[in-house]
Amino acid sequence: MAVKTILGLEIHVELLTKTKMFCGCKNSFGDAPNTNVCDVCLGFPGALPRPNKKAVEYAIAAGYAMDCSITKRYKMDRKKYFYPDLVKGYQITQAEYPLCTDGYIEIETEAGKKKVRIERIHIEEDTGKAIHNENGDTLMDYNRSGVPLIEIVTRPDMETAEEARAFLQSLKARLEYLGISDVKMEEGSLRCDVNINVVDRGTDTRTKITEVKNLNSFRAVGRAIEAEEVRHREMLKTGELGRKETRRWDDASGQTIRMRTKEEGNDYRYSVEGDLPWANLPQSLLDEVKENLPEMPHVKKDRLMKEYGIGEYDADKLTLSKELADAYEELMKETKNGEVAANWMLGDVSRHINAMEIKISELPFTMKQLADLLQLLEDKTIHQNGAKKVLRSMFETGKEPKSLVDELGLAQITDTGALDKIVDEVLAANPDSITAIKNGKDRAIGFLVGQAMKASKGKGNPQTMRTLIEEKMKNL
Ligand SMILES: [Zn+2]
Repeated sequence: MAVKTILGLEIHVELLTKTKMFCGCKNSFGDAPNTNVCDVCLGFPGALPRPNKKAVEYAIAAGYAMDCSITKRYKMDRKKYFYPDLVKGYQITQAEYPLCTDGYIEIETEAGKKKVRIERIHIEEDTGKAIHNENGDTLMDYNRSGVPLIEIVTRPDMETAEEARAFLQSLKARLEYLGISDVKMEEGSLRCDVNINVVDRGTDTRTKITEVKNLNSFRAVGRAIEAEEVRHREMLKTGELGRKETRRWDDASGQTIRMRTKEEGNDYRYSVEGDLPWANLPQSLLDEVKENLPEMPHVKKDRLMKEYGIGEYDADKLTLSKELADAYEELMKETKNGEVAANWMLGDVSRHINAMEIKISELPFTMKQLADLLQLLEDKTIHQNGAKKVLRSMFETGKEPKSLVDELGLAQITDTGALDKIVDEVLAANPDSITAIKNGKDRAIGFLVGQAMKASKGKGNPQTMRTLIEEKMKNL
């Protein structure tokens, strides 16, 4: 039975505006509960919403960044339902005319390149937040009520957890480059729901779609997809196709748990938001947003490959984070070998940054200093391991690489007289190895190089040592 998984994503993104979507309250995470609220975002009778222009511009930018068409007709609707976090009894959203439609993001996985289509991106307001405390009480914080959101809905074009992850990574990078959201999944500014079912390709029998909520990390998204794939395949086997429902991901048990059978769209009784006038967005506004779009990660990736001669894999990794890509380009102003620079940025530099949990902007050294370190390596003043030690020390002290080479005594011995002496001593001490080499056992040379490196306290150059040993062997 050839079974295919069908995956679509719905992503809510909080926009990084100063104020909320329809009022002047501060849009800020982590403030004391219920301090950023007013009659509009608490839905008092008679309060009138006013749209936030910046939020509309950000949503348009997101649309352009994903190659969408932008609908000029600006209209908001009410999605009506009762929930304690929704004091108004309805959420202002865009049902009928989403601002952006028909875009795509191209992803790349082991299986190759693939376009994931974006069905729509629309604007809406966030709800309040329920906090369940240890006494079993539920407390409400309405600071988030009315925070501007965009909802991005994909077509069901993905088939594996790996594809979903690649899509989310690319989406997150684009939003980060645009600067329209801080895209922190752990703080809820990027939230992802998964729609999943499976189909038997032979008979076209399908299980009913499950929507999985409560996914607060890329890892949780991947695990939830894998768990649901197993559950749906099992359902298909037994012929029990399930029902359309919403489930919650439980990270501890690694399973999804049923929340409710899914409401049909018309359960929400959508209606026009009569307090906001219909409007036509002027072409000049659309053009202005488009002209001011920053270079997107996938475009930057192609440029880095061309400009600095690096491979696609490195370019992809570098451009996933704007900070990293910017730092790399700054480094390239000071150094020449693009590949070496990429290796260091993605290797040791990134590793220390992750271990220290700092941002690139918090590095204790400049890209010029990092370039100086690469130059010392290029000049053969130090070798690879020495450079790694200097870098570690740069992270700890922020000192100049040159002075660290002296301080740590890492400069390679370039004085051939000194190296000669070391090699002679090593040869004299290891007559057995010399016999072995003469009998054709080449591996013994490696042993002698190792001994010579040890004797030089790591300051010799292994290649020079090898050449010296080979030359001396000829006369033995
Ligand atoms: Zn307000």
